[in-house]
Amino acid sequence: MRLLESSAPGIREELESIGFAKWSRAYSPRMQYNVMTTNISKSLNSAMLKARELPICSMLEVLRMMLQRWFFGRRNEVDYQVTDFTETIEGILRDQIEHIQSMKVSLVNNMKYQVIYGTFQYVIYLPTKIRIPTRMEFKRRIKCGRCGRVGHNRKKCKFSLLN
Ligand SMILES: [Zn+2]
Repeated sequence: MRLLESSAPGIREELESIGFAKWSRAYSPRMQYNVMTTNISKSLNSAMLKARELPICSMLEVLRMMLQRWFFGRRNEVDYQVTDFTETIEGILRDQIEHIQSMKVSLVNNMKYQVIYGTFQYVIYLPTKIRIPTRMEFKRRIKCGRCGRVGHNRKKCKFSLLN
């Protein structure tokens, strides 16, 4: 938080006013701190509670049928998916789009927008684009393996012929 405040003064007050649950996983109201887990053994144990009493062959058959049903269901769900999002995310997006459509946005200038939502009125300032390049985006400096000069490679070297 201290580090964040050193780069963006006033961010602490803003984040506190939004509420911790919106940006901190520790305060997330959802299960598993809103992090997707893939603990298959937990799921299987709870699903196989009754089947564990069966003889081994019957238990394995129940397990096979259950997994087949799960995979069929998931595959079916994905096959009829229109977008790249899951049904849950699509629902959230749909709600947000409905929410946004009831807002009236008008341009003040290139960086300033006026948003009217119900009885509220906001002015939104869009920051100028400051893009931080990823590590991969930095240009690699090519160094010649023959003459050692920068800016060309061994194949395009003109200096080795001079020596
Ligand atoms: Zn060279």
